[in-house]
Amino acid sequence: MIETHCHLTFPPLCDDLAGVLDRGAAAGVQRIVVPAYDPPSWRQVQDIAAAHPGVVFPALGLHPWVADQSFDIDDLAGHLRDCKAVAVGEIGLDGMIDTPLMPVQIAVFEKQLELARDLDLPVILHCRGAFAEMAEILERFSPRLQGVLHAFTRSPELARRFLRLGLHLGIGGAVTRPRATRTRETVAAVPLEKILLETDAPSIGLDGVDPLAAEPRHVRDVALAIAALRGIDLEDVATTTTASAERLFGLGGPR
Ligand SMILES: [Zn+2]
Repeated sequence: MIETHCHLTFPPLCDDLAGVLDRGAAAGVQRIVVPAYDPPSWRQVQDIAAAHPGVVFPALGLHPWVADQSFDIDDLAGHLRDCKAVAVGEIGLDGMIDTPLMPVQIAVFEKQLELARDLDLPVILHCRGAFAEMAEILERFSPRLQGVLHAFTRSPELARRFLRLGLHLGIGGAVTRPRATRTRETVAAVPLEKILLETDAPSIGLDGVDPLAAEPRHVRDVALAIAALRGIDLEDVATTTTASAERLFGLGGPR
């Protein structure tokens, strides 16, 4: 299976990287996409990916939370090429924070969408409280732009709007929570080919797992929850989501 969103640069994951990767592999999670979020983390993520070829794949972008930081789009383009990044991300919009202001976030977001389109790379999208704004912007880039809306927990209706724009949905720990009815309804309703597995560790936990204890190995629990909801085998979820992630991010076969 492929963990499509994990912040291996954050503690406690970065303090025990070898253990995290070993436990992931033992649980059937052999490959991990690691998004960076600001210029200092671009370098960190590239270093981790270079040290674990074929296992850790870098994505680089400027996160909406730091969209007011000075950043050079040509510098980002150079880094993306240098490390053969598999995506531009994570990037997006966050309407639940006061700063950076939404117009600032939108300007930085659009610049990076243009870059992704020019470099023919997919995007890894963060969105909270700004789904209408995001959909409107993405409509202008559709159908050339591909990507994943990560940590998706919203309704089947909203999911379909983004699927029509050519996006995948990143499904994580929320689906393991019995009370997450909206997320579970969406996961049961959308085409399996449009689902990617993720944890967003160490930012999001699972049912009974604290965010700081979450690791790529928990992708297996996410896959098990999806399988149970759809009445299919874990193997089917693993095969289909792995093929989708390989296609989207241009990853080769397993090691
Ligand atoms: Zn993230």
